[in-house]
Amino acid sequence: MSPSSQILAGVPSKIVEAAERVKLLLLDVDGVLTDGKLYYGNTGEELKAFDIKDGLGIKLLNASNIMVGIVTGRTSELVLRRADELDIAPVVQGSKNKLKDVESICQKYSLTLNQICFIGDDFPDLSAISRVGLGICVANANFRIHQVAAWCTKASGGNGAVREVAELLLASQGKYQSILAQYT
Ligand SMILES: [Mg+2]
Repeated sequence: MSPSSQILAGVPSKIVEAAERVKLLLLDVDGVLTDGKLYYGNTGEELKAFDIKDGLGIKLLNASNIMVGIVTGRTSELVLRRADELDIAPVVQGSKNKLKDVESICQKYSLTLNQICFIGDDFPDLSAISRVGLGICVANANFRIHQVAAWCTKASGGNGAVREVAELLLASQGKYQSILAQYT
């Protein structure tokens, strides 16, 4: 079995079909790109940990013409820094209504909701996950999010969930094998 087939093994055909159409992957930050924990330093500085494997997944998507963006309810400078490192765009911080922001992004980039994959973990992600073409939740998402998401990652937030989705998208779009070949 090819590495690409291994990734898609056990994935229902309707998920693969939805993944084939994705042009933009949108990510929640806390609980998706991070483990959801907020670390505070003595000086009041806020710290978050990002998974390095997610980072490569995002780079591979960008290199394969699948855009990656962020829609988060919180606001912090370090999110901009991480986005900058990985060429993540668009970035929406302080989102009060994620579906509305996803729709604005679609308008800006001339995309339809069907071409969006959104990964979330909690109530603020509910509307976006239930309306986009491929709504995904992380393994440790709130149970209500599991109920509306079309697919759920094996990994928890901040522990490779984004990488898992990146590989799912790349394999579904037939782009995985050529990427892997560059490393072997
Ligand atoms: Mg979250």
